[in-house]
Amino acid sequence: MSTVTDLILAWYDKSARILPWRTNPQAYQVWVSEIMLQQTRVDTVLPYYQSFITRFPSITALAQADESEVLQAWEGLGYYQRARKLHQTARLLVADFDGKLPSTAEQLRKLPGVGPYTAAAIASIAFGRAEAAVDGNIARIYSRLTAFDEPIDSTSGKKALQVLASKALSHERPGDHNQALMDLGATLCLPPKPLCPSCPVQTECLAYAQGIQGDLPRSLPKTVIPHYLVSAAVIQSPDGKVFIAQRPRNGLLGGLWEFPGGKLEPTDADMSTCLRREIMEELNVRVEVELPFGIYKHAYTHYRISLHAFLCRLSAGEQIAMQDDRLWVNLEELSFYPMGKVDRLIAKNLQTPSSDKLR
Ligand code: SF4
Repeated sequence: MSTVTDLILAWYDKSARILPWRTNPQAYQVWVSEIMLQQTRVDTVLPYYQSFITRFPSITALAQADESEVLQAWEGLGYYQRARKLHQTARLLVADFDGKLPSTAEQLRKLPGVGPYTAAAIASIAFGRAEAAVDGNIARIYSRLTAFDEPIDSTSGKKALQVLASKALSHERPGDHNQALMDLGATLCLPPKPLCPSCPVQTECLAYAQGIQGDLPRSLPKTVIPHYLVSAAVIQSPDGKVFIAQRPRNGLLGGLWEFPGGKLEPTDADMSTCLRREIMEELNVRVEVELPFGIYKHAYTHYRISLHAFLCRLSAGEQIAMQDDRLWVNLEELSFYPMGKVDRLIAKNLQTPSSDKLR
């Protein structure tokens, strides 16, 4: 593999993508960028990275921030657990590590939200450690280079590719080597149609030589992603406020604010019955479901939803028992509370002047 390594590094020296976390690779910047890049494309990450680093320029600044400020800076990037773990870790680093990230992959792996790939990426890029970072993109490159016949997401396939990548890794420039592979996977060795004529390692690629690059990598059969019907209530008060609740800290969209509601059950006759039942279970009040307020579709990692929103009012004589994670807010105040994509869309639609359904 040394020829491949040399060719990839020579190509990287000429063609590396210019990215803000690369210009001066400090450990904090590399860490934030790698956490943001988990399951997210570079183009999506760039604007978030810039504003996040400006808002929280150091581990200490991040540790001193409120969780809701961090979630707000992350809003729209998805997978909010990453933001909460980043924040928790910053506090842990200030308390126990003198405000610094540890430098070995082994120590980094012990931090919340840091798996083997992220640990290897940070250790190699920020600290020059010889650790091969292998994610789906890099596994795809190695599977094509070696015409690897096993599913790359099987346990044995992952192990074999990690061994291969570790053997091929440049010990002189491990960070550059990992980043060169990241660039190759993002720009040329693309999943559906690799751009082989422009590839720096085409002469060494077994899949290309055999004309099977489009058939690789092999993967385990996909599981079907379930689809759920969900309802949500925009409960309006007589003085023009709407009700929002904060999701429990642990779990999907933890700590974000939402319009209450839930999943359609087989016993629900329709979406409004579902909504009335959910609101009774969640808030112990009866609501009048007045008008539909849009259907919002969204895909999470393991399932998809179609969320039916409705404008509602509390039934006569009902009152919601208020606590810290429940609020009545004016429409303009909705922007101050971090929300997931679907709830933010509902909030924006409520704030749109043409939203004349609100009375
Ligand atoms: Fe990927 Fe094609 Fe390069 Fe092989 S030659 S590594 S398939 S881009």
